[in-house]
Amino acid sequence: MYPHKLYEIDQLLARAQELGSLARLETLATVKDTKGEEFPIHKLTLGSEDPAAPVLGFIGGVHGLERIGSQVCIAYLNSIAKTLLWDEITQQALKKIRIFFIPMVNPTGVVHLTRSNAQGVDLMRNSPTEGTNTNFLLGGHRISPRLPWYRGPNIGEMEIESKALVESVLKELERSVCAVTIDVHSGFGMQDQLWLPYAKTKRPFPHLAKAHALFDLFDHTYPYHFYKIEPQATNYTTHGDLWDYIYDESMARRNDFTYLPLALEMGSWNWIKKNPLQLFSSTGPFNPIKKHRERRILRRHNTFFEFLIKAMSSSSVWDNLNEDQINKHELRAKERWYQND
Ligand SMILES: [Zn+2]
Repeated sequence: MYPHKLYEIDQLLARAQELGSLARLETLATVKDTKGEEFPIHKLTLGSEDPAAPVLGFIGGVHGLERIGSQVCIAYLNSIAKTLLWDEITQQALKKIRIFFIPMVNPTGVVHLTRSNAQGVDLMRNSPTEGTNTNFLLGGHRISPRLPWYRGPNIGEMEIESKALVESVLKELERSVCAVTIDVHSGFGMQDQLWLPYAKTKRPFPHLAKAHALFDLFDHTYPYHFYKIEPQATNYTTHGDLWDYIYDESMARRNDFTYLPLALEMGSWNWIKKNPLQLFSSTGPFNPIKKHRERRILRRHNTFFEFLIKAMSSSSVWDNLNEDQINKHELRAKERWYQND
């Protein structure tokens, strides 16, 4: 039996049980902490079983110190699981699309209060993808697991957690017509940011026009939203980003579909500004310690998540574009995000 100190895992299992045949529960892998205690990496899937269905994925806890990311995923899983039991609109949407949750990719990091896994590897630097113009250390390195942002000892060898995530997401992308994943992090900056690919380079990624069309829709639907939206590389470039790797790998296998791997980077510097003691809290600086702030963060992204469900259910609106529309979105995206390059 797994230990019960990770309530996020208990909640996921409880939802799986309540939903019965409406949910598919998988254990992607089991990892051990430094004492040999085992932890599961779970995936819970709701909705269409058609391999071609549009897919929306919620991922959290890649960095153990950013436990709030797992909690945001679980809070949303809780909501949608409850909604699915009574709301006909959600039931209809999930006949059309598939939603999966991998809310805690790095459970040993969560238990140890470390960014890395139990081997000292930063999973978000662990893929074979090489970045350009990366910063020393921050961009990923193979010097020592004692330093942050360690990529792992050998090129091309991924950790159990990374492999579990990569294989599971690539399987979702095998035949889907359109896919969006959102990986929830915290720690960087003052403002909540939505990051587009790439992390490896400041150059545009192939689905730039589609990403612009999606966020154009979001901007028009929710003009008062609070997100800063831009490619991750605008902030810094890295080696070994798992999403760059999954994206490039999926495009190499087939280029007849749209895939947008997004990251939600919750601006935790703001929480520190409001409560400097957080820097010394036992859960670390990247998690809110005030209960009211935690509650606010757990509900803060519902609008965006609901928007994504609608955007996937009606994906043709932003995904089936003619050549003229693609060119226009591409041009506007370059003006918006690549002005300085
Ligand atoms: Zn992170």
